[in-house]
Amino acid sequence: MAAGLNWYKADLRELSFVLLEQFRLGELLGKAPFEAWGEDEARAVLDAAYRFAREVLGPLNASGDREGCRIEDGQVRTPKGFKNAWKQLYENGFKSLGVAADHGGQGAPHAVVVLVEELLSGANSAFNMYPGLAFGAAETIIECGTPEQARRYAEKMLDGTWGGTMCLTEPHAGTDVGAAKTSAKRLPGGKYAIKGTKVFISGGDHDLAENIVHLVLARVEGAPPGTKGLSLFIVPKKKISTDGKVGERNDVTVGSIEHKMGINGSATCVLNFGESDGCEGELVGTTENLGMSQMFRMMNGARIAVGIQGLATAAAAYQNAVDYARDRKQGPHYTHWKDPTVPRVAILEHPDVRRMLLDLKSHTEGIRALIVKLAWHGDQARALAGKDDEKATYHKGQVDLLTPLVKSFASDEAFRLAAVAIQVYGGAGYLKDHPVEQYARDAKIYSIYEGTNHIQAMDLVGRKMGQAGGANFQAFLQDVAGFVEAHRSDPTLGKAVELLAAGQEALMSSAMTLLGWSQNGGLGLIGLSANRFLTMMSQEAVGWLLLDAAALAQKKLAAGGLSESEKAFYTGKVQSALWFARNVLPQVEASARSLATEDASPLEIPDAALGTT
Ligand SMILES: Cc1cc2nc3c(=O)[nH]c(=O)nc-3n(C[C@H](O)[C@H](O)[C@H](O)COP(=O)(O)OP(=O)(O)OC[C@H]3O[C@@H](n4cnc5c(N)ncnc54)[C@H](O)[C@@H]3O)c2cc1C
Repeated sequence: MAAGLNWYKADLRELSFVLLEQFRLGELLGKAPFEAWGEDEARAVLDAAYRFAREVLGPLNASGDREGCRIEDGQVRTPKGFKNAWKQLYENGFKSLGVAADHGGQGAPHAVVVLVEELLSGANSAFNMYPGLAFGAAETIIECGTPEQARRYAEKMLDGTWGGTMCLTEPHAGTDVGAAKTSAKRLPGGKYAIKGTKVFISGGDHDLAENIVHLVLARVEGAPPGTKGLSLFIVPKKKISTDGKVGERNDVTVGSIEHKMGINGSATCVLNFGESDGCEGELVGTTENLGMSQMFRMMNGARIAVGIQGLATAAAAYQNAVDYARDRKQGPHYTHWKDPTVPRVAILEHPDVRRMLLDLKSHTEGIRALIVKLAWHGDQARALAGKDDEKATYHKGQVDLLTPLVKSFASDEAFRLAAVAIQVYGGAGYLKDHPVEQYARDAKIYSIYEGTNHIQAMDLVGRKMGQAGGANFQAFLQDVAGFVEAHRSDPTLGKAVELLAAGQEALMSSAMTLLGWSQNGGLGLIGLSANRFLTMMSQEAVGWLLLDAAALAQKKLAAGGLSESEKAFYTGKVQSALWFARNVLPQVEASARSLATEDASPLEIPDAALGTT
């Protein structure tokens, strides 16, 4: 199938606003560790990535979805055009932006990298999985492996010569990773014989690179049960000699590829390791049974990447929906709704369509701000390390706290917002002639992989909120409170800021309820309420960041001297925040009331009353 039209469109003005005006990244640039970076460089990279996204990746999005992947002679073939896109991606250096200079990269701030990733994923989410996994696996080898492993494996994975994967899931071990049965037997010479089957492996095989380096969780003979007994292994598709040369095939075969609802251009594989007892693996680092914590290194990055996928798909759906709503004429203006003689107007003029567009706009802008905030905290932590360790610890703590919010809220919202975009189109949105139906199909997986969103919610309430004795969560609440105090008397935003304040009270009270349950054996109630709490906290965070952007926009408007398009841009920021505050922030309070009812009906209902037996 030939490459098709590019549907992808992004608002670069909005991206530079978040990066350079709201988070003032410029203050971190031009000095260690970002000496080589200034605002002009950041803008130039976003421009270049956007051009690449539209010219190279966008045209392959629908064609890749229709064509999908296939197996030929035991080898996965990716859709037409993907190989060339992979080559160009690495030639342009987009995947080495965030890589440290001593590993051949450009050392860009993470806040820039996440926006470049939004552009790449927004244009073609399925394609961007392959290099994303290679990057994550390489970073894990650099951080957890020996220097020799970093040199031998990671550098070629970072420059696109080789791909990479993460292999956790087995048929009986999905969420329950610790049930993994894949085994590792020590061999003379320090290698291990790996044996077992992994399922659902993204990019498990493909024809984009010379080799693929799999990171595989397996249990060494005699290791303890559960996650504690898992070790992480480097298992290349083709063996690699000590001097880095690619040799004969390792015993890793593709059993099949899954036929999926979405991201069809991404090959999701069943991989068999050691079917002929000839699969060789190498331990990451030098110590067994550290596999789960090492894999978490990759998973934390991947969770943020999934949040970016969610943002990217939702933002692409929004941009397309606005374009369609401007073009499509239907019905009279609402002020003349009974008059059949007046001209038909664009559907963009109908109140309900405008409501949907603002829902899309405010959520995508707020989630983008949340993702950039997380990345900015990481950049601050790097910049302050060794100079002001207390502040660096605060910033690092916010990265940890916000990661489950970014992964879950962005992914849940992506699917919902893609459906809203379809609704904006009406029947046309349901057709494959337009991109939004694919966005909805692609987006569904985001809430499932990298730990389902319930696992993220349990990570938030069971681990992250209590981390550092609760200091990270308290710091988050204090930051919101500081904003409330500074802006509650603002004539335009004041009432919306009060809604934020009410949300914050609600969040604190629900946090206390959760704490009470955890101290009094209410584990079932925690399981029932964790997702709700994660959503509440995400809505509060997004509402805060939108109001923060609106406060800044108001200042720019008050200062005057703006072009018409800049005036519209900043006015849009204010309206976006007001819409979210009035329509979404009250849900935080409502959720707190619901949580306080201690509803246990899902636990109390007899199993036999669920469905038919
Ligand atoms: C397209 C795609 C790509 C993927 N890519 C990869 C990859 O590259 N590498 C990899 O290793 N895996 C990958 N996966 C696997 C993915 O991570 C798992 O599907 C996911 O972790 C969920 O596991 P499961 O499908 O077995 O569902 P289950 O674990 O069977 O879960 C089913 C439901 O039960 C809930 N549940 C399960 N256990 C609990 C519990 N203890 N408490 C409360 N609720 C629970 C879950 O939240 C979910 O709602 C991919 C999956 C897909 C579909």
